[in-house]
Amino acid sequence: MSIVARLRAAARATRPVDPEFAAVLKRRWEELPETARTPGQLLGRHAVGCEGTHGVFPKCNLKCTPCYHSRDANQVRVDGPHTLENVTAQMALLRERRGPVAHAQLIGGEVSLLEPDDHAAALRIMREHGREPMSFTHGDFDHSYLEQLALGPDGRRRIERLSFAAHFDKFMYGRRGIVRPESEAALHPYRRRFVEMFARLKREHGVRYFLAHNMTVTPGNLDEVADVIREGVRMGGYSMFSFQPAAFLGDERRWKENYRQATPDAVWAEIERGAGTRLDHRVLENGDVRCNRTAYGFYVGERWYPALDGDDARDLTMREVFFRHFGQVNLTGAPLPVVAARVLRVFARHPTATVHASRWLVRRLRRVGLRQLARHRFRIRPVSFVMHQFMDAQQVAPAWEMMRRGEQAQEPVLRETQERLAACHYTMAHPEDGTLVPACVQHAVLDEGENAQLRTLLPLVDVRTSR
Ligand code: SF4
Repeated sequence: MSIVARLRAAARATRPVDPEFAAVLKRRWEELPETARTPGQLLGRHAVGCEGTHGVFPKCNLKCTPCYHSRDANQVRVDGPHTLENVTAQMALLRERRGPVAHAQLIGGEVSLLEPDDHAAALRIMREHGREPMSFTHGDFDHSYLEQLALGPDGRRRIERLSFAAHFDKFMYGRRGIVRPESEAALHPYRRRFVEMFARLKREHGVRYFLAHNMTVTPGNLDEVADVIREGVRMGGYSMFSFQPAAFLGDERRWKENYRQATPDAVWAEIERGAGTRLDHRVLENGDVRCNRTAYGFYVGERWYPALDGDDARDLTMREVFFRHFGQVNLTGAPLPVVAARVLRVFARHPTATVHASRWLVRRLRRVGLRQLARHRFRIRPVSFVMHQFMDAQQVAPAWEMMRRGEQAQEPVLRETQERLAACHYTMAHPEDGTLVPACVQHAVLDEGENAQLRTLLPLVDVRTSR
C-alpha cells in the first residue's frame, strides 16, 4: 500500500463520526417512546443498546432458582457447529439492522460447556460483525479452560481481550465444592477464584480482561447485596456489579419465592449501601429506567466516585457537551490508539469541548483529593453498578401480542410493559424471519417453542434408527 493510501486509511479509521453509526443512532432515537427520551438517555445518542444470542447452546449444568430458560433447555445437546452457524446468522442480522458497533452477549445456557475452540470461534465471529462480545458464565470452570480459550491449540495467544459476566448467587445449585451455598458470603472464595484465573492469564500471557459480577436478587438474599459489593470490590477484578431482581420468567418449576418483595427501590438501596454512597441512576440512562438503572464511576481505594454528579449543574453541562461532540463517536471496539486519535480530532475541531472536559477532570481530581490519590498510587478503577429488572411473562406475552397487532394497551400495567419493550436495551435477533425482539419476549414467549424444536434437532442421546 502506498503512503498516500495508508494515510487515507488512517484518516478514515480515526474519523470521529462514522455516517452509518450516526444514522442508526438517529433511527434508534426516533423509535424510542417519549417516556425514554430523557436528558440522560444514552440510547440513540451514544449507543444502540446491548444484544444477546439465543438458542445457540441452551444447556446449563447448574440449577438456578429462578431460571429464565424454558424447561426444555437442558435437554438440548451443546453442539459447536450449531452454535457457530446460529451465532453467525444472528450477528449478521444485528449488523444489518443495528449498525457497525454494539456490545453483544454470548449467552445461552452455560458458555463454558462449549469446547474452547468453538467458544473462541464464536467470539471471533461476533467481532467480525462489529460486536464487542461478552461471555456469560456461572464461573465454575478451571484455569485450563480459560487458557485453551485464549491461547488456542498452538499455545499462541489468539484473543487479546476477554469479557466475561460471571453469575454468582446462593440460589444456584450444583457448583463444584459448594453444591448448596448457605449464604452469599460462602461464595466469596469462588468469586475470588474467578478473578484470580483472569489475573493469572494476564500475568502469564498478557490477555486483558473485563469482568462483570452478576447476581439474581430475591427477598432471600436482598440483605446480602451490600456485602457482596464490598467484598467483590476488594477482590480487585470486577469492573461491573450487576444485579437482577428476580422475575417470574422462564421455567415456572424454579419459581420459589414472592420475588416482588425485592422491589427495584429496595435492591437499589442495598446497592447504594454496598457502594457506600447515593447512586444517581438518572444522570445517564440505558433505555427505560424501570428496566435498567446504571451508575458509572470509579473507585480510588475503597471509595466510589461518580463520573458525573447529577447535583452539579456543571456536570450536567458536561453531559450535554459529551452528547453533542462525542455522542456519535464510536469509543468501543477499536484499538486504544485509534480511539485516542478520534477523541483528539474532536478536541481539535471543538476547542470548547476541551475546556469543558478539562474543567470536569479538575473537578473529579479535587473531589477525590490529591492526597487520597497519592495514597493509592493514583490507581483509579472504573466500576459501574447496574440493575436490570426483567418483566414477568404474565405481562410480557399479552403486551407483545398487542404490539405485534399494532395496538396500544389501555390497561396501565400492559401500557407500561409496552413502553418498556419499545425502549428495550437488550435485543435478540431472529434471522429466520428477520425480526429483532426484546430479551423479555425471547424468554417469555419464544424460548419454549425454540427449545422444543432444538430438543429434537440436538437430542442429548443419539437416536438409533433402523434402515
Ligand atoms: S429485556 Fe425486558 S427488562 Fe430488559 S431492557 Fe428489554 S424490555 Fe426491559
